[in-house]
Amino acid sequence: MLISLIVPCYNEEEAMPLFYQEAARVAAQMEKSHGAEFEIIFVDDGSKDGTLRVARELHDADPRVRYVSFSRNFGKEAGIYAGLKAAKGDYVATLDADLQDPPALLPDMLDALLTGDYDCAATRRTTREGEPPVRSWFARLFYRIINKMSDTEIVDGARDFRLMSRRMVDAVLEMSEYNRFSKGIFSWVGFKTKWFAYQNVERVAGQTKWNFWSLFKYSIEGIVGFSTQPLVMAALAGVIFCLAAFVGIIFVVARALIFGDPTAGWPSMVCIMLLCSGVQLFCLGIVGEYLAKTYLEVKHRPIYIARETEQDRDERRQAKQK
Ligand code: UDP
Ligand code: MG
Repeated sequence: MLISLIVPCYNEEEAMPLFYQEAARVAAQMEKSHGAEFEIIFVDDGSKDGTLRVARELHDADPRVRYVSFSRNFGKEAGIYAGLKAAKGDYVATLDADLQDPPALLPDMLDALLTGDYDCAATRRTTREGEPPVRSWFARLFYRIINKMSDTEIVDGARDFRLMSRRMVDAVLEMSEYNRFSKGIFSWVGFKTKWFAYQNVERVAGQTKWNFWSLFKYSIEGIVGFSTQPLVMAALAGVIFCLAAFVGIIFVVARALIFGDPTAGWPSMVCIMLLCSGVQLFCLGIVGEYLAKTYLEVKHRPIYIARETEQDRDERRQAKQK
């Protein structure tokens, strides 16, 4: 039984050795308890620091460590996809490099899968301690909105930390869409999921790669990727404004017929025009967002471009020895 650990890394040179230590510890423990073998796949997402160097060193020291290095930063979602593609394991886990996803949970997660009742063991944090309150508030708002709009259930506080069976990994790999929103994809493919709750852990080293703006864009990505409800709302807004205009016309005509035609009312007219054109642009923006996503999707661009993998390194070394 082989277990693959997929670790997307963007500028994580400080955290990676710590992650490796902890993962190796858990691996040794699980080798005894479950007879499991491990491979660790670091996906270097176009890092600007020594992430690739650390990955090479770890691979040289321990052949269980593999790596894929991207030609530039493609984002965490692309990293997860690349890792899933490279993974050879019967069970595959995705974890962050900063140890916010504790590998120590893996034995319990594997136990759940080994019962045969589940194809996925997923994790959820119960607290958002150590996070700015404003961010938590917006995060909760996002989960409320997306779950209202989308048929795909997106669990509040769900991490990307999961252990999946080969069956589920293959299903996820079949979703080769360009705009990837993992939380949605994992939920969309279905399969029985067992949830594990744990307290939020702070990152061991380095810094978070997300700011408010990138999280905002990510949330829009999620909504557009897993719901077409905003389009319905845009259409609905159009209908409501048409009705309002219709009522308004009848009122104005009737008033003109009964009381004559007073020329007052410019300010209200300007306000109404501004409001209506604002709503129009907003709805056009929603449509544009879907069009943009469709545009990117039909181009069929690769999700990531690998520059180097551990195989390249091994081959080069063998060539040198000859
Ligand atoms: N990450 C990545 N590419 C990116 C941004 C982040 O591979 O463009 C990785 C990062 O190295 C880490 C994981 O995604 O392993 C989660 O990132 P981070 O810890 O910054 O997010 P947070 O835990 O603060 O939500
Ligand atoms: Mg983190």
